[in-house]
Amino acid sequence: MISALMPNYNRADLAFERGEGANLFDSAGRRFLDFGAGIATSSLGHGHPHLVAAIAEQAARVIHVSNLYHIPQAERLAQRFVDASFADSVFFCNSGAEANEGLVKAMRKTMADAGKPERYRVICFDGAFHGRTLAMLAATGNAKYLAGFGPEVDGFDHVPFNNLNALRAAITPETAGILIEPVQGEGGVRPAQLQFLRDLRATCDEFGIFLGMDEVQCGMGRTGKLFAHEWAGITPDILSSAKGIAGGFPMGAVLATEQLAKALVPGSHGTTFGGGPLACAAANAVLDVVLAPGFLEDVEATGRYLWDGLEALVRRYPSVFTDVRGSGLIVGLKCAVPNAEAQSAALAEGLLTVAAGENVLRLVPPLIVRQAECDAALALLDRTARRCLPAVSLAAAK
Ligand SMILES: *Cc1c(COP(=O)(O)O)cnc(C)c1O
Repeated sequence: MISALMPNYNRADLAFERGEGANLFDSAGRRFLDFGAGIATSSLGHGHPHLVAAIAEQAARVIHVSNLYHIPQAERLAQRFVDASFADSVFFCNSGAEANEGLVKAMRKTMADAGKPERYRVICFDGAFHGRTLAMLAATGNAKYLAGFGPEVDGFDHVPFNNLNALRAAITPETAGILIEPVQGEGGVRPAQLQFLRDLRATCDEFGIFLGMDEVQCGMGRTGKLFAHEWAGITPDILSSAKGIAGGFPMGAVLATEQLAKALVPGSHGTTFGGGPLACAAANAVLDVVLAPGFLEDVEATGRYLWDGLEALVRRYPSVFTDVRGSGLIVGLKCAVPNAEAQSAALAEGLLTVAAGENVLRLVPPLIVRQAECDAALALLDRTARRCLPAVSLAAAK
């Protein structure tokens, strides 16, 4: 008989009861160090007092009112994003896929309003992940995710990541813009070269098309900047955010320049839940922490500390881990053993991680993680590596 909960996930045999900072406790009271953060989402860790209080206070006042009325929490949040980023205007929604849908709609509508409705196609990259709606499956372009769901939504082209010639060759009179993750998350924690991002900006300007960034996973402070594209010293025309934006409360956002934002006139786009008082109270609380002086610098420093430890781990166990990749606190360990095996070995040691493409083990701890917790994670990864060592090399390692 089918489970009451639809069977679309292979779940670990574990249920968590409560969390504290970078720790989760299961129903048996066992403690796990959370370097998965609910897939890079619990940005302030678990039970963060400022986030908890903001949600509790707002929930007691009013949870939902709809976008038929002014929502002061949303107006304040949007203004803070405008002040802290390239954006002139922000749309709030409920997930990463929904944010990307809004981003693509804004690109297409801006072209149509400019008298170029034939420019509706968006160029995406091999290894991308943009979400699970019908259009975002096509933007993702992964045959495994598309299979069985009928004709692929038209309007998305794919080129190799970090390859400017291929990108330029793919631009046609039908192209509206480009959509790129500055650090591919699901694809295997693959950062775009900073020069490639600069070249994309110049190419978009040259051809009069839009540069879109999917920062659903790598944004909101994870790389040590509020948004990852800032490392390249460029700005996109439009950007999607979600995952960590409200610390685990469901929320997404589209940040845009005036040129693209003004295409979304009343009636052209919408959402029932998006930008509600509760989600915006949560996101404002997250921004209080992330934008506090020194916080992003701490993320960068902690990321570098973790990176150094991981490089030492790779040197100790080259037959298990072969490479470190990523940026800030989105880090990948390229595995020589199957990454699923490394992930379950880490779990058995009490460390939560997330598998990613290209046989990578992904480490995306809460942004509030301390050096001492990185030391603890590194010790657990050492034991993980020993579990994964082939019997022969285990004898040699002694
Ligand atoms: C997770 C993710 C998405 C999809 O977000 P959902 O909230 O699951 O819809 C889109 N883009 C990137 C880069 C992601 O990591």
